Parts: sequence; C-alpha cells; structure tokens
Amino acid sequence: MKAELLNELKTVLKPEQIILGAPMDKYTTFRTGGGAALILEPDGAGEIKKIVELMNGFSQPYLVLGNGSNVLAADGGVDLPIIHIGRRMSDVTVFENCVTAQAGVALSAVANLAMENSLTGLEFAAGIPGTVGGGIIMNAGAYDGELKDVTEAVSFVGPDGVEYVASNDEMEFGYRSSALQDSGCIVTGVTFALRPGKKVEISEKMKELGRRRREKQPLEYPSAGSTFKRPSGHYAGALIQEAGLKGYTVGGAAVSEKHAGFVINKGGASSADVLSVMDHVIKTVYDNSGVVLEPEVKIWGESK
Ligand SMILES: Cc1cc2nc3c(=O)[nH]c(=O)nc-3n(C[C@H](O)[C@H](O)[C@H](O)COP(=O)(O)OP(=O)(O)OC[C@H]3O[C@@H](n4cnc5c(N)ncnc54)[C@H](O)[C@@H]3O)c2cc1C
Repeated sequence: MKAELLNELKTVLKPEQIILGAPMDKYTTFRTGGGAALILEPDGAGEIKKIVELMNGFSQPYLVLGNGSNVLAADGGVDLPIIHIGRRMSDVTVFENCVTAQAGVALSAVANLAMENSLTGLEFAAGIPGTVGGGIIMNAGAYDGELKDVTEAVSFVGPDGVEYVASNDEMEFGYRSSALQDSGCIVTGVTFALRPGKKVEISEKMKELGRRRREKQPLEYPSAGSTFKRPSGHYAGALIQEAGLKGYTVGGAAVSEKHAGFVINKGGASSADVLSVMDHVIKTVYDNSGVVLEPEVKIWGESK
C-alpha cells in the first residue's frame, strides 16, 4: 500500500479511525491471525464513499469486515486495507413495522429491539454473532429463518464510490449468499420489514432458540460457527461425524466433539492449524461419502 494513500486517508478520517498493525485475532471470533496492515473505521456512508474513491484513485483493492464471525485471517497477516464496519455505525430506528439499522449494529441487538417493540420475524437472528452488514452479505440464517425473509431494502456504497439502494429481489439472496458478496460493495444500512406480534411469545422463542444453540453448539470455544456450507441433500456436521472426524485435532484446532460442523480453537490455535483441520475434513469426507464440502468461512491473507 502506498504511503501517499495513507496520507490522503488521514485527511478524511480522524487518527482514532485509522489503525495500523492491529492483530486480527482481536477482530475475528476464531481468535487467530496475524497483523492487519491497515484498518479503517468509517462512521457512515459519507466517509465510506470518500475512502472508496481514494482506494480507486490508487488502484488499491480492499476488504470489508463486520464482526469477523465468518472470517479466518492468515497467520502471516492481511496486507490489503480493511474497512471495518462496526460500532461507529450502530444507529437503529423503529418506524411502524420496520426496523432500520446501520450496517455495524449486531444482529442480536436488532432482534432484541424488534422484540421490545413487539415485532416478530427476527427471532432466528438473535443468536447469530454477526453485524447487520455481514449478515446481509452472507444471507445469515438459522432454524426457521434467514435474513432474506425480512429484508426490505439494503443501502450500500458500490465499488465506484456511489451510494445505491437495492430491493430484496435485487439482492438475489441464496443459501449463505447474496449479489453483493465479494463484490467490493459495502453495506451501510438495512431496513427489515417485520410483523406485529406478542412480545412474550417473541421473547420466549428467542430464549428457546438460544437454549437449543447452547445445547448443540460449542459456544464455549472460539470458532466461526459452521465451518462448511450445507451441501445439497446433506448436513455437513453429519458427514463429518460419519467420517469419524469428531475430535480430529491439529495443534490448537479441532473438529468439535459437541457439533462436528464446527472447527474450534481449543486454545492457542493458529490459522494454519484451522486450515489443516479443514483440508483434512474436506479430503476425508470426500473419500468417505463422495461429497465435496465447501468452506462457509471466508479465508483472508497469505495462506489462501
Ligand atoms: C458461534 C457462531 C455461531 C454462528 N451461527 C450462525 C448461524 O446460525 N447462521 C449463520 O448464517 N451464520 C452463523 N455464524 C456465522 C456468522 O456469524 C455469520 O456469517 C454472520 O452473518 C457474519 O457477520 P459478520 O458481521 O461477523 O461478518 P464478517 O465475518 O466480518 O464478514 C463476513 C463476510 O461479509 C463481508 N462483510 C461484512 N460486513 C460487510 C459490510 N458492511 N459490507 C460488505 N461486506 C461485508 C465480509 O467481507 C465477509 O465476506 C456463526 C458464527 C459463530 C462464531
């Protein structure tokens, strides 16, 4: 990255919004990864537009980070500048049956606010540890719902530095995918269209789904949730378990004993450990069942 680009960025952002050399283990729920050359923390669409324009002017590619709950960063670090959409973009408002949230708000916070306002439809999202922006990009889902079911409009800055609004149809949501994934587009805000419901019932459902998560998932360990996408007609966890891989360990990383779909950091894992476990799982499951598992987690940096 050019020093001139950094100097230009300093004219757009305050010093506390520009972070040099921070360890990625502080920015990802796997708690692994080396240093990030540059993390930028914009406070809204206006600053994002200026950042993207500068990146374009220097032909500089960039990455976008939410809560890092679906990202594995290489041990050698991440050289590309990272635009981190987080707590500086966390406004959320309720109007009639709609909740409009900036992209940095936690999905759990939006689900809780909806519940407080007796709005139903987002209960499934309460336990997903991502931001609104990351959730939309991934079309995050669980149990009986996914974000595509409740998304009315998505605001984003395109790779050309222009602001756009996409409708639900234009987002082309699919299983853990959307039209904006890996596109250079940066989600800035989302409007969710919900339905009136009974606060007690909404709250009960959220508690019940939370109980099911704690019972089935190894939430006591750092991870990125389900490491692999669900292959059509199968469950990744079941295929991994049938291949005898529960507990398979490399260094500090392992296939969870509690839920074989999760690769976990048992303590002190490197990203290389996680990748070794993932490679072995993909190979062994293929040998055992003929099914090719595809990572759901995004792999950033050298070891890709
Ligand atoms: C314990 C645990 C449980 C989980 N359970 C579930 C589950 O039930 N269902 C589920 O779907 N997922 C689950 N996940 C995975 C993860 O929480 C989701 O994929 C979530 O949507 C990622 O959001 P994030 O903000 O952390 O995004 P990140 O991990 O930061 O990023 C994910 C992708 O989105 C992009 N991105 C992030 N923010 C933006 C933005 N504002 N604009 C443009 N691109 C952006 C990134 O570039 C990256 O490609 C789980 C993870 C963990 C750790």
